[in-house]
Amino acid sequence: MSAEQGKGDEELNDVLRELVDGDQLDKTAKGVARQVLTRGERSLSPKQEWVFNTQVRAKYIDRACRLCEDLIPITEVEQSWGNDLCANCARILGEQTSEPPS
Ligand SMILES: [Zn+2]
Repeated sequence: MSAEQGKGDEELNDVLRELVDGDQLDKTAKGVARQVLTRGERSLSPKQEWVFNTQVRAKYIDRACRLCEDLIPITEVEQSWGNDLCANCARILGEQTSEPPS
């Protein structure tokens, strides 16, 4: 069980690293994400935790697919930032709308 948990943290950290390096977050949210990355979520004050939950988790991590409404797995969540789709639905829609090779 603890091994599974460790793996999930690693995947969360990958997503956080992406956010900290990117331009999606504002300054405050980025600082909090960076702290979670280096010191863990438990190091956050209640106010920082609120920022993390509302500005980071709700927007970039705990996301539901707009088509099937399933929670998007952490491993697929980065791809969903642009289209709000899980990998499965993105593939289905992509096949429907993909242009023929030129
Ligand atoms: Zn979906």
